[in-house]
Amino acid sequence: MRPAKALIDLGALRHNLREARRRAGGAKVAAIVKANAYGHGAARVLPALVEADMLGVACIEEALALREAGATHSVLLMEGPFEADELPLCARLGFEIAVHDPSQLAMLEAASLERPLTVWLDLDTGMNRLGFRPAAAAAAYGRLRDCAAVGEIRMMTHFASADEPTEPATRHQIERFAQAAQELGLARSICNSAGVLAWPEAHAEWIRPGIMLYGVSPLPGRTGPDEGLRPVMTLSSALIEVRDVHAGEAVGYGGTWRASAPARVGIVALGYADGYPRHAPSGTPVLVNGRPSTTVGRISMDMLAVDLTAQPDAAVGDPVILWGQGNPAELVAASAGTVAYELLCGLAGRVRVELRDDP
Ligand SMILES: *Cc1c(COP(=O)(O)O)cnc(C)c1O
Repeated sequence: MRPAKALIDLGALRHNLREARRRAGGAKVAAIVKANAYGHGAARVLPALVEADMLGVACIEEALALREAGATHSVLLMEGPFEADELPLCARLGFEIAVHDPSQLAMLEAASLERPLTVWLDLDTGMNRLGFRPAAAAAAYGRLRDCAAVGEIRMMTHFASADEPTEPATRHQIERFAQAAQELGLARSICNSAGVLAWPEAHAEWIRPGIMLYGVSPLPGRTGPDEGLRPVMTLSSALIEVRDVHAGEAVGYGGTWRASAPARVGIVALGYADGYPRHAPSGTPVLVNGRPSTTVGRISMDMLAVDLTAQPDAAVGDPVILWGQGNPAELVAASAGTVAYELLCGLAGRVRVELRDDP
């Protein structure tokens, strides 16, 4: 059996969920499980999310998959309906919808549902992605309130730069939202993970943590463990060859890494077809036998090479951790010029998954 494996630690996820709620002063938690729970497998992680007050996804397809997997939570569709025929399904299955555009107001006005939907009025307070501008909030709220298809109405916004704690844009977003919230007097949700961790004044009634649930910090220069979080996914494999490389010899496609002195190099059974970033340069951190090492040369489709010069006893079969326990995905992502979100979401289907659920 190929040794490439993703270990998913449900105990870590439970811990991180409690930590999110604690950091947000006991706010209600919409646990964000879009993109197949950030690559962890939405159905797989459900048992660790029973304490969540609701779940949040991008679209109805993801919400339906959660119901099929047995989720009994209310589920928020954070981009709302894409088409009017989703609304009866939402009513039947207990999905709540964000409404960010007049076309969705029109869908609701034309709908006749078996029971009214809980609707989250999405305000754009500065990101300029989705949502009504605050000046249009009262009118949109009025239309929602007049809809027979709409029951409870709550309000939400999304931060553009909450991971930059010195960025004044976030303060402006909080102020704009507070003004609209004061006029409408609805339950509020503002914070993603970065908001939970860095903007306590914005916690409000509901938080929407995603990445922190998986044990990853979105804040610059910080890792999940720095924030008291535990990594949920640990991607590992093993050495399948160990070789001595003479000074001056090159390793891998294109020969982009060359030994400046006699070196020992290990070949690991894991590559970009498993979700490891092909753009990770030589020097990207890995753990071999629990000890720090780095990649050397280009990442291949099924393999990558690591420096074993400091581990003369390393041998075929020895364990290698690509990210997770002891080797934060944040550091691998930083080396590869991306974010840990992309690494976790990109875990490939061919990687064997093992669940750990310690009581
Ligand atoms: C993805 C998403 C979140 C969660 O963001 P994290 O940075 O992963 O915590 C929250 N709210 C909305 C609207 C989102 O799209």
